[in-house]
Amino acid sequence: MNAFQNVCVFCGSSDKVGEPYLKAAGEMGQALARRNLTLVYGAGGTGLMGALADAALAGGAHVIGITPESFNTPQLMHPKLEELHVVKTMHERKALMVDISDAFIALPGGYGTLEELFEILCWAQVGLHSKPVGVLDSFGYFEPLNSLIEHARQEGFIYEEHRGLLIHDADPDALLDQMAMYQPPEGLERWVNRPEEGQ
Ligand code: AMP
Repeated sequence: MNAFQNVCVFCGSSDKVGEPYLKAAGEMGQALARRNLTLVYGAGGTGLMGALADAALAGGAHVIGITPESFNTPQLMHPKLEELHVVKTMHERKALMVDISDAFIALPGGYGTLEELFEILCWAQVGLHSKPVGVLDSFGYFEPLNSLIEHARQEGFIYEEHRGLLIHDADPDALLDQMAMYQPPEGLERWVNRPEEGQ
């Protein structure tokens, strides 16, 4: 029995990345399929998005694609999705992804992936959801980001208790195992309530 069922994955759409990244995305797709988890993602057929969905589908996973109308073109879309939701805007797309997903994972990616990861983390920080958020840290891709987050924490921009909001692992199964045990950090209400220091 899984702690969650629908796993939303954000990842790069670029076709210019090295083969090892595509392979790592495929391994994540395989891990989701092995666990009978449903993949929710942006419906793309390119880059890591395509490699992830190809592997999940090959492993027998149910895959749900959600895309805005503007991306619904043969060049961008995955051709074999059995469940595709075409919505009007990027915002509607994200809202639907968040509503139907129980957990979120970012794989290596660019602006789109980073924006998606940070929005979902920010929503956890302000208490809009309490679902696990993880990154697949393939080849240390997210190390510079981890350093920036740590710097922001040291400088006081990120509360200590919010460090635990982001789960990391380079191995898909280890990441999913950690995410299955996720307990939202205590004190999450601090961002909204702003108690006096020492309370
Ligand atoms: P990037 O990391 O800049 O390549 O952007 C990738 C992210 O943008 C993915 O996680 C998707 O959610 C979104 N994205 C890219 N291509 C599509 C697409 N065809 N349909 C919907 N979203 C997409």
